Amino acid sequence: MNEILIQLAYLLAAFLFITALRALGRPDSARRGMQLAAFGMAVAILATLFQARIVSYEWIVVGAAMGAIAGYPLGMWVPMTAMPQRIALSHAFGALAATLVGIGEYTIGLSGGTLVRSNLAALGLEVFFGGVTVTGSLMAFGKLQEILPGQPLIFRGQNILNALLLAACCCCAVWLIAFPTHAVIFSVMVALAALLGILFVLPIGGADMPVVVSLLNSYAGLAAVATGFAINNNILIIVGALDGLSGLILAIAMSRAMNRSFANVLFGAFGSTDAATAAAAAAEGEMSRTTAEDAALRLAYAARVIMVPGYGLAVSQAQHQMRELGELIEKRGADVRYAIHPVAGRMPGHMNVLLAEAGVPYDKLIDMDEINERFVEADVAIVVGANDVVNPAARTNPASPVFGMPILKVEDAKSVLVLKRGKGKGFSGVENDLFVDPKTSMLFGDARQSLLDLALQVKVA
Ligand code: NAP
Repeated sequence: MNEILIQLAYLLAAFLFITALRALGRPDSARRGMQLAAFGMAVAILATLFQARIVSYEWIVVGAAMGAIAGYPLGMWVPMTAMPQRIALSHAFGALAATLVGIGEYTIGLSGGTLVRSNLAALGLEVFFGGVTVTGSLMAFGKLQEILPGQPLIFRGQNILNALLLAACCCCAVWLIAFPTHAVIFSVMVALAALLGILFVLPIGGADMPVVVSLLNSYAGLAAVATGFAINNNILIIVGALDGLSGLILAIAMSRAMNRSFANVLFGAFGSTDAATAAAAAAEGEMSRTTAEDAALRLAYAARVIMVPGYGLAVSQAQHQMRELGELIEKRGADVRYAIHPVAGRMPGHMNVLLAEAGVPYDKLIDMDEINERFVEADVAIVVGANDVVNPAARTNPASPVFGMPILKVEDAKSVLVLKRGKGKGFSGVENDLFVDPKTSMLFGDARQSLLDLALQVKVA
């Protein structure tokens, strides 16, 4: 294919990626967004296969087959609850590809005597961001999959050591620009970047990992940009820039929704709160238990019901049961809405994705700001496996670690029904005053079973 046609195909692919990103911003167009992005990627890959630089197709076919064998099960069988670690693994693979391309380009340039200073800057950035992302993402995967301990691992001088490693990587990059043929320095830089990735993720708690995964996504994008400059490929530069910026924006947006600074997530070791702090934030009072029969009776006569899904809903995979219960209540003439908190669950948009997958109409999924005004009119708010995102201490208790986090104002509803397994805490590890509020009733048990029991009782009520 002629070079102009290849560049035109890249332009089309870039247009498709940007349109896809736009479509991904809304639940009702997200599926189309994914399809556009996949089509864009197919166009980009196809155009690249016609590049004059390709010397043989055998290894490309082997690589594509290996990728398909690894990718198909990841895409088809990984459950929604394991999505953050699946994404972390994908970033590790992408960054490994960028790092290997960087090492390959350097080796070819070294043996052919064609290393040029201007290219060394791009190669240096490529292997640096690639190396950090590979090991960082593997660490994130290990923590989220619970292969590694999820709690923050902290030692004295950790941030100083990381800063020194970063400085050493920068020195190596500058050295290589000055003396491109010093291969030992290149190897040292790759090794230091890989070590930095491990140390960077070590002090971050398992539940903060989605923020870090987004940031690593951004690094993988920057590695792709550098690769694009190193091998002179425009689509890599465009896609890498889109990836890099969207990952960064997402990481910052998530930190904001948790009312934490970005620096606090990265260096604050959240989740290592000591017992004293947790005790200071403890709620006082007794929880009042209820049964599915009593709760169903209340639901059967409610006119307005708001469902509040949280991480526990995802754990118990109870999204279909939540939708079924909602439909049963609606059949009795009530209005049912679903309150969506931006960081409910463990990844951005977690609740949107789960409920959309279960077939809840998009117009019933209401964002936090809008639904918060409606809680006062609700007869019953049903909290399913949510904890931190409904903790009133975020507004009332300055001593609480969640103070300042925007929350769903569930306590404004006339009555509250909470479905959870027991007295377990949420991600932040603090007690929740809502559970001991006199208007709250607790229905203990796995969310899926409790929703099934409730649905059965609503049918006969
Ligand atoms: P949460 O605070 O983690 O609480 C989840 C609750 O679900 C727990 O209290 C647990 O209590 C209950 N639960 C667990 N398994 C259950 C099951 N099988 N059936 C019924 N209940 C179950 O969840 P959240 O309210 O959704 O808040 C999310 C938290 O994660 C926030 O603090 C947020 O900042 C953080 N976070 C979110 C993201 C994101 O992108 N979404 C990223 C990083 C951090 P029991 O053990 O008693 O059942």
